[in-house]
Amino acid sequence: MCGVVGIHAPGQEAAPLAALGIFALQHRGQESAGLAVSDRDGIMVYKDLGLVSQVLDERRLASLRGDLAIAHCRYSTTGSTHWENAQPTFRLGPRRSVAIGHNGNLVNTRELVAELPGGRERLVGTTDTEVLTALLSDEPGADLVAALTTLLPRVSGAYSLVVMDEGRVIGARDPYGFRPLCLGRLPAEAVVAERAPASAVAPSDPLPWGEEVAAPAPVAGRGWVLASETAALDVLGAEYVRDVEPGEMVVIGEPDGPRSIRFAESHERLCVFELIYFARPDSYLLGRNLYEARRRMGEVLAREAPAEADLVMPVPDTGAPAAAGFAEASGIPYRDGMVKNRYAGRTFIQPSQSMRQRGVDMKLSVLREQVRGKRLVVVDDSIVRGTTTRQIVALLRRAGAAEVHLRISAPPIHHPCFYGIDTSIETELIASRLDVPGIRDFVGADSLAFLSIGGVLDAIDLPRSRFCFACFDGDYPVPVPYDVASHKFVLEPAGAR
Ligand code: SF4
Repeated sequence: MCGVVGIHAPGQEAAPLAALGIFALQHRGQESAGLAVSDRDGIMVYKDLGLVSQVLDERRLASLRGDLAIAHCRYSTTGSTHWENAQPTFRLGPRRSVAIGHNGNLVNTRELVAELPGGRERLVGTTDTEVLTALLSDEPGADLVAALTTLLPRVSGAYSLVVMDEGRVIGARDPYGFRPLCLGRLPAEAVVAERAPASAVAPSDPLPWGEEVAAPAPVAGRGWVLASETAALDVLGAEYVRDVEPGEMVVIGEPDGPRSIRFAESHERLCVFELIYFARPDSYLLGRNLYEARRRMGEVLAREAPAEADLVMPVPDTGAPAAAGFAEASGIPYRDGMVKNRYAGRTFIQPSQSMRQRGVDMKLSVLREQVRGKRLVVVDDSIVRGTTTRQIVALLRRAGAAEVHLRISAPPIHHPCFYGIDTSIETELIASRLDVPGIRDFVGADSLAFLSIGGVLDAIDLPRSRFCFACFDGDYPVPVPYDVASHKFVLEPAGAR
């Protein structure tokens, strides 16, 4: 996962807006952050390891001048965590300069490297995004749009991109639309103004498809924003316009405003995990508010897998919406049984097992008086490796819980993801090795149940055909070559890490 933001704000400083937007997407990646800005003469990039607030401080932002910007926060799915792999990536190539922020994971990186004159030696980092950037800076074509139109059909896998040259910001989504990307309109004064939240605004009619169709005429002082999630629009006071469609590029440049260019047919398969777990609960995807979708998953789970218990409690904060739904549907009182240190990172997106392990200890503690002697239904939104869940059950038992009944508002994750979530090693997934009773025994719970795929669909009330469920059912929309399936360090020489 990663977060991306693009800003086109004629006459305004774009860097603070991009920073504010990417700060709202911090949950999508905590390893590095960065920003590229254009003053129409050249592109300047600043990026570093760390959180958005650490990397993009006020002093730094004041030095990044220009009215076009893209921003990125990274959670590594290709390549190690080091400075060279932070984004946006930038390349001053023989044909054009270009900067890219990428959410997703490509599955034909080796083939793309083979296209690159000079091959891997030309790269300073080891990410698929850098390969894409290098190819794009070399790609024949009259301009950046023409180059993207010929390059993107050769790129396979998951990508929601923000791309910029000196005069344009472009959003593009792969033909399956695995990762989200939306378009919004900045307010006339692009400061955080008092206005209705963008996501409360009903999606407008889509911009018409087809060849370079112009959007409504630009309004002076207004600009455009591209973002992974609508939550980033809210923080900017921006109005949600619509999602960038799978297989579509939205080109934002003057004087036309956004233009829609379709470079591939849409085969929409949005990652269902975005709805279950990853995106912010205040974001909207496919017209669904994610808090409400998750609350409904809890309701369905209570019907599918009831439990005799005294209390329903969430694993904070990820299980909270589903726990609320479970409590409402079951009639069992809802109560907090654990508190979270909000300054600790999300365990799942820490890059190594040892860091994840330390992360759990740092971030959760039990409210003993609430759980002592109680039969608990403990609700979480997923079990990936099982180690975090095991520690949570142990913490609750040490605090005196009489029974721990785990309810998970997602199906078991049997298969790895190659489209941008760091579960690409199958043996790390507990459900690939153990059945449900085996997982129950491993985590030490009295009972364990997962929401079914049908239950997820009931809760979100949308057809299965619109989603990727591959980590649950093994049906990969884009075939994954075996060597990509081996590990995420496809571009790193052995022993380099
Ligand atoms: S494999 Fe799973 S995590 Fe990856 S895109 Fe598909 S549903 Fe999402």
